[in-house]
Amino acid sequence: MVYDVIIIGAGAAGLFAAANLPSDRKVMILERNDRPGIKLLMTGASQCNITNIENIKTFIKRYNNPAVARKVLYNFNNIMLMEYFEGLGLKLIVREDGKVFPASLKSKDVLDVLIREIQKKNHQLNCNESAADIKWQESIGLFSVVTDKQKYTAKKVMVATGGQSYPKSGSDGSFIGILTKVGVKTNNFEPALTSVKVAQYRFKDLSGTSLSGVRLSTKRDIRTVIKTTGDLLFTHDSFSGPVILNSSRNINNHDKMIFDFIPQCDEKSLFDGITRQVSNNPRKEIKTTIEESVPIPKRMTEVLLEITAIDKKKKSSEVSKKDIQRFIRNCKHYEVTVMSRQGFENAMVSSGGISNEEINFDNMTWLKNKNLIFIGEVIDIDGETGGYNLQFAFSSAKKAVSGLLFD
Ligand SMILES: Cc1cc2nc3c(=O)[nH]c(=O)nc-3n(C[C@H](O)[C@H](O)[C@H](O)COP(=O)(O)OP(=O)(O)OC[C@H]3O[C@@H](n4cnc5c(N)ncnc54)[C@H](O)[C@@H]3O)c2cc1C
Repeated sequence: MVYDVIIIGAGAAGLFAAANLPSDRKVMILERNDRPGIKLLMTGASQCNITNIENIKTFIKRYNNPAVARKVLYNFNNIMLMEYFEGLGLKLIVREDGKVFPASLKSKDVLDVLIREIQKKNHQLNCNESAADIKWQESIGLFSVVTDKQKYTAKKVMVATGGQSYPKSGSDGSFIGILTKVGVKTNNFEPALTSVKVAQYRFKDLSGTSLSGVRLSTKRDIRTVIKTTGDLLFTHDSFSGPVILNSSRNINNHDKMIFDFIPQCDEKSLFDGITRQVSNNPRKEIKTTIEESVPIPKRMTEVLLEITAIDKKKKSSEVSKKDIQRFIRNCKHYEVTVMSRQGFENAMVSSGGISNEEINFDNMTWLKNKNLIFIGEVIDIDGETGGYNLQFAFSSAKKAVSGLLFD
């Protein structure tokens, strides 16, 4: 039997492509795991942040290559994606920060909708079957796909094997080796959207606490390489949250990260606020005085007092103005040295993958053989956190399907 399309990988991209391929095509999806969509189920803390409501003009700037993102996303944008899911009966919600989720906040509901569509179209889904090789047979104009179980023949092969992050989810980047053998130019996968470890991390006690609107600058030697603002999350051993994740690709070991935890207040107003409180209530503990005058979480006040080596129980009047200034400096200019970015085990996406130069983005095909198609994270495109990576997976799948139907 000759398949019209064999899709390798039942992740977000592969499933979306299959769900959109009509039932008159002979389609098979190969998935090495015992079930489809394992990573999809993990997304957005199992709530599945499918996209973002941001205007498409600025949306595309959230990727490492906005020009390519524009080509892929303009045909099937965030609004169209939302209409697609809602059309299939999946209610969605838009959070205040623009992130879009299924209203149930269950990633399983997104997966179920896609699986239902695939079943409706009678496409074949083979789990527990790993693609081990592909070969173009020039004489008959067909691909052979060799798995750990069998050999198949197909007119088209769609590679949707994902990146290398969270390798235990099945996407371990190994299929890239097979593509390289076929002659596809690829760039090494690197962890992206990952938390950052620093020397002498002092925020373990704040694990799980997040702080909004933190300003981060990163210096390499004397050069400032990053200046950005966003939400910061303290974990038990590293800095995380959007402000770190989105910058992580550009952060190197030994860089200096400088945090302004309270960019909304300048040093003078903080100093005036604290000293005013001190003179009103000189006998109050310094911890309480600061809690009442500095807009940071209480637990963080304690940690920053500890870092500044001020005894939190001291009477406010006993703390010198110099120490108050040092405390404020730690709030506004806290400097740490980067030890490392977390690896693939913790990275939400991978940068790298199939080089953009290899792909015709009008239909997601390989420029050297239009019967080989690439979709999703296996391509060297990655976006910020906030729904941008799933949107790319879905949009690239949709673009590939449209191209295939017009072929
Ligand atoms: C913890 C976590 C949370 C995330 N949250 C979000 C979020 O909320 N919003 C967002 O936009 N993005 C999120 N992402 C990123 C997003 O999940 C990915 O970008 C997206 O899943 C990529 O889809 P994909 O189909 O290209 O690859 P994947 O979803 O990784 O799927 C690839 C599939 O191919 C299979 N496969 C690989 N090799 C073979 C082979 N040789 N044979 C057969 N099968 C194979 C794998 O088992 C896997 O099932 C998150 C990622 C992680 C790790």
